[in-house]
Amino acid sequence: MSKRILITGAAGFIGSHLCDRFIKEDFEVIGMDNLITGDLKNIEHLFPLKNFSFYHQDVSKFIHIPGKLDYILNFASPASPVDYVKWPIQTLKVGSLGTHNCLGLAKAKGARILLASTSEVYGDPLVHPQPEEYWGNVNPIGPRSMYDEAKRFQEAITMAYHNAHGVETRIVRIFNTYGPRMRLNDGRVLPNHFFQAITGEDITVFGDGKQTRSFCYVSDLVDGIYRLLMSDYHLPVNCGNPDEITILQFAEEIIKLTGTKQKIVFHDLPKDDPKQRKPDITKARNILGWEPKIGREEGVKITYDYFKKALNVK
Ligand code: UDP
Repeated sequence: MSKRILITGAAGFIGSHLCDRFIKEDFEVIGMDNLITGDLKNIEHLFPLKNFSFYHQDVSKFIHIPGKLDYILNFASPASPVDYVKWPIQTLKVGSLGTHNCLGLAKAKGARILLASTSEVYGDPLVHPQPEEYWGNVNPIGPRSMYDEAKRFQEAITMAYHNAHGVETRIVRIFNTYGPRMRLNDGRVLPNHFFQAITGEDITVFGDGKQTRSFCYVSDLVDGIYRLLMSDYHLPVNCGNPDEITILQFAEEIIKLTGTKQKIVFHDLPKDDPKQRKPDITKARNILGWEPKIGREEGVKITYDYFKKALNVK
């Protein structure tokens, strides 16, 4: 009999790729999403399958899944800065109440649960690169706080369920991830720059562009998550690509790839925008035998082809 897995945030960027992966691994996949930032297009191809079903539901409200459940992946949340500023209460509710519901369901079903945490728990980090032992530098009332603090609460309640109830929990701290199915209007740097390059707008760089990020291709991330779920390690593990780049260099790479004649324009840096971000992936390497395989050049090219198709551009 196949293993049954509930994936919340199933219609989102990462959630939908997780659905694909677990279908491929012969699981029965139950997707759940309230579709505020997710899109059914991302999982439409799964609906005809016998081993896929979908609930249009808000995870922050009571969840009931009939029958047995072996695993839960909690990936429901707005996740781009533009989205969580637009949906602040929903972001806090899904990270707190939604996580509580998922943990309660895991406890009731005896299921193992993996929670999607984030590099944002490190805030604007004072330690570089960021190892899991770093406690972070987060503004609790700043413009990113609805996301950062929801995710920090999520980690705390997850550890509490592990310690108090013996629930089998896993926590992945996800660093910047990209690939097909990102929303062109989600406000993140990569979709923004592609959209601007393709539609002939200037390329917006915030601040002086010296802030850094480290971008991981989605299939690598999904593989790390799969390995973590199957491992016996319950403390947080960073998953990301340590190949660090400044945002200005990144914009220049996009300009070169797309051949756009548009120029770079500098806008104000949003408040609390982290100055540097790069995962220390020693734990993932040692415990999961995992490291990213897809370099930025390859991954960005695949994503560009996806965006061109989405915008009907040759
Ligand atoms: N950024 C930028 N231009 C844009 C969008 C974002 O320069 O059009 C910058 C943003 O200020 C940040 C970095 O790119 O320093 C990554 O932003 P993103 O929203 O992708 O995610 P974050 O890593 O900040 O959560």
